[in-house]
Amino acid sequence: MTAANEAPELLLQHHLKKLRLPTVLREYEKLARQCAAENADHTRYLARLIELELIDREARMVERRIKAARFPSIKSLETFDFDAIPTLNKKLVVDLARSDFVDRRENVIALGPSGVGKTHLAIALGVAACQRGIKTRFATAAAIVHELIEAHDEKRLLRLQRQLANHELLIIDELGFVPLSKTGAELLFELISQRYERGATIITSNLPFDEWTATFGEERLTGALLDRLTHHVHILEMNGKSYRLAQSRSKRKR
Ligand code: ADP
Ligand code: MG
Repeated sequence: MTAANEAPELLLQHHLKKLRLPTVLREYEKLARQCAAENADHTRYLARLIELELIDREARMVERRIKAARFPSIKSLETFDFDAIPTLNKKLVVDLARSDFVDRRENVIALGPSGVGKTHLAIALGVAACQRGIKTRFATAAAIVHELIEAHDEKRLLRLQRQLANHELLIIDELGFVPLSKTGAELLFELISQRYERGATIITSNLPFDEWTATFGEERLTGALLDRLTHHVHILEMNGKSYRLAQSRSKRKR
C-alpha cells in the first residue's frame, strides 16, 4: 500500500501546509460536505475552495502592507467629514483614493493649518493604496530626516535610500513643523529627487509654499525641491478651522 492509500487526509494536510494553503486546509472538509449536499461537482468544489484561499490571501497581503506602512493610526475616507472643510475638493480626494496617481507616480501635497485633517487624509489615501496592494510607507518629516541622518552617520545611507525608493508610495507628514538642519534638508531633498517620476509622494505641511524656505534653510534648494515636487502634483487646499478644536468646543457646550 502507498502512503496515499494509508492516510490520505494526513498526506493532504501535509501537502497543503507545504504549499502554504492555510485556507484550503481549514475549509476543505466543511466545503466538501456542503458541495456534496448541493450536488456540486468536483470542479465547482475545487473552484470554490481555491477562491476562498485567494480571498484570504489578498486580505493577508493588505494586512501586511498596512502593518509595513507604519501608520500612526488607521483612518479612512468614510469617517472623514467633508462638510467640515469646504475649501477641500472632495471629488479630487475621492479620485485620489483610487490610487491611480501612484501608478502615474504623481505627488499630492496637503496644505493647511493644524487640526484640519491633513494627517487623516494622508493616512486614508495610504490605507486605500495598501488595499490595492501598493507598497506604502508613512513617516513624519522629522522622523524620516532622523532616519536618514542616522543612516548617513552609520554609513548605510545608500541601503536606506534604496529601501525607501522601493516604496511605491511614500507619505511625509508634517513638513515644516520643525526647521531642518543643513544635512537634514539636503538628505530630504536627495530623497525627493530620487523619487522624482519613480515613485509617488504625499506631503502634508502647515506652511504655504512661500514659507518652505524657512524649513529648508536655503532658497535655491527649496526652489529645486518645489520644482520636482510640483511637476506632477495634486494640491489639497485645506484652509479651515481646526476639527479637533471644534469637536472639543461642541463637547464642552453639550
Ligand atoms: P492635521 O494633520 O491637519 O493637524 P489631523 O488629521 O491630525 O489634522 O486631525 C486631527 C483630528 O481630527 C484627527 O483625529 C482627525 O481624525 C480628526 N479630523 C480632522 N478633520 C476631520 C474631518 N474633516 N472629518 C473627520 N475627522 C477629522
Ligand atoms: Mg497632522
